[in-house]
Amino acid sequence: MSVKENITAVLQELGNTELVCVTKTVDPERINEAIKAGATIIGENRVQEYEGKSDDLLPSSRHLIGHLQTNKVKKAVQFFDVIQSVDSLKIAQEIDKRAREADKVQEIYLQVNIGDEPQKHGFKIKEIEQALQDIAELKNIRVTGFMCIPPYVPPEQARPYFKKMKALFDELKTETEGKYDNIDIQNLSMGMSGDYKVAIEEGATMVRIGSALFGDRV
Ligand SMILES: *Cc1c(COP(=O)(O)O)cnc(C)c1O
Repeated sequence: MSVKENITAVLQELGNTELVCVTKTVDPERINEAIKAGATIIGENRVQEYEGKSDDLLPSSRHLIGHLQTNKVKKAVQFFDVIQSVDSLKIAQEIDKRAREADKVQEIYLQVNIGDEPQKHGFKIKEIEQALQDIAELKNIRVTGFMCIPPYVPPEQARPYFKKMKALFDELKTETEGKYDNIDIQNLSMGMSGDYKVAIEEGATMVRIGSALFGDRV
């Protein structure tokens, strides 16, 4: 199937759930095919890789979904509409600083390490409430959601993690509602090619799909 056919089929299947079309390792030509076929959000993992392609891309909303290093924050703020992969207070503070310099309010999601895996990036569940309180002080950041990557297991086994993330999302959304000017929790980004159907059943508002659209990465 062509990229166009894949996008059309997936968009139909998703209904109201938003699609982040994950374009790491995909060349601009094929990314543009996806955008022409109706993809409105593209997701990239690396600032540098995106920078190399950005001039050749049709307009779309651009989300960073990979771990961000301090020395790439300035460019990330310049290039991305949303940084989904904010995984520490330190990186949030750096984003705030660089956004202030650029006279921008940077939209972010907080990445949650929902499986509590030592090798994975993201806030621990027990850290997330304090993180929100700390980030509430950072006026050049706006938090609008959460992102998670559950442990790498078959889709049905990922379901409990999606459930847990949705419960946390609901709790924190209620807790912060109307309380902070710069926190407005609306988006729950979870689910990838292998498990997005389960993620949607469990309450994802946004899924991030790469290989199911473009084929396996080489
Ligand atoms: C690569 C990636 C995806 C998409 O993965 P696929 O299995 O190709 O759909 C989603 N989210 C993140 C954070 C990724 O790095």
